[in-house]
Amino acid sequence: MSLTPQAGIMEIALYESGKSSIAGRDDVLKLSSNENPLGPPPAAIAAITSAASETHRYPSTDHAELRDAIAEVYGLEASRIICGVGSDEVLQFVTQAFSGEGDEIIYTEHGFSMYPILAHMAGATPVVLPEVERVVDVDIILEAVNEKTKVVFIANPANPTGTLVSDAELKRLADGLPAHVILVLDGAYAEFSEGYDGGKTLAATRPNVLMTRTFSKVYGLGGLRIGWGYGPQEMIDVMTRIRQPFNLSGVQLAAAEAAVRDPDWVRDCAKLNAEQRTRLTGAMRQLGLACDDSEANFVLVRCADKAEADSAEAAFLAEGIIVRRPISYGFPEGLRITVGNAEQTGRVIDALTRWRETN
Ligand SMILES: *Cc1c(COP(=O)(O)O)cnc(C)c1O
Repeated sequence: MSLTPQAGIMEIALYESGKSSIAGRDDVLKLSSNENPLGPPPAAIAAITSAASETHRYPSTDHAELRDAIAEVYGLEASRIICGVGSDEVLQFVTQAFSGEGDEIIYTEHGFSMYPILAHMAGATPVVLPEVERVVDVDIILEAVNEKTKVVFIANPANPTGTLVSDAELKRLADGLPAHVILVLDGAYAEFSEGYDGGKTLAATRPNVLMTRTFSKVYGLGGLRIGWGYGPQEMIDVMTRIRQPFNLSGVQLAAAEAAVRDPDWVRDCAKLNAEQRTRLTGAMRQLGLACDDSEANFVLVRCADKAEADSAEAAFLAEGIIVRRPISYGFPEGLRITVGNAEQTGRVIDALTRWRETN
């Protein structure tokens, strides 16, 4: 090719999303993308419908109404909130604004696959560090940080492991990082972890901590692409300069505002998830499959080896169930199963029980 892309771009491996269909089946149960089994909140559907008649208008550029709603519900300062096309875009703002060629961006061995993509997009170098027993380790990160490090990404709870770093350990990490390093606490699954504040306390009080949150998971609006970040005013003001003025449509803004103002939704979804997650984890262990306690809306099941996982996946597919194989995350022996509702969880357990009987 005679065209020369920016440095780093050709290093990007294309993102692989969860499969969503099986040829010849119309009863497919998709448990591969950590989507909400209850669908979108009814309040958001109503807001989308009524916003539709205003789509000839350009949307708000400052997202003031959505930011006010988030600030009220989460107890934050609205001026320190930035909204993006999914939290992925907020993660892109921070890497693009604060890193470039010659800089390093740290994440860990089973970390979210967007992190290296975002590092390369910014021209920076992704640095992947080991975890300890599938948990992010603060000491390993602190040892690896140097003057080139610009961003440390931690998803908490993590995807695809579902494990959580404790508040005390996060604080120790924030305390130990030099002032030029931004700690990004990706809270995509924070609502599913009882007692975890999603990184809010650190983001509210530290000059170099950014919390990101999303409407894609517990809020059930993954298809609409809305996320947000919260951090120090100075950091948010920098990121706002590279945000496109009309990055979110009026429909997105209206749906997100309605969802965040629905007080019962998050509580009910998190409760259902916790019940079915306990049930699913227990059943997997009874079938002799290893899995850590998950703090998210999925469970990472570890088979004996890749061949066994291939066999379990084939059994699922034969019963119309799609799960995620986290092979690119370093788990060839793994199956990441989104926690569904009671009926769906029953279908998963039945499928694997039948598979176990013949394998
Ligand atoms: C799903 C997910 C996100 C959210 O992405 P959106 O762009 O907000 O849909 C962020 N981080 C992790 C680790 C995720 O799994």
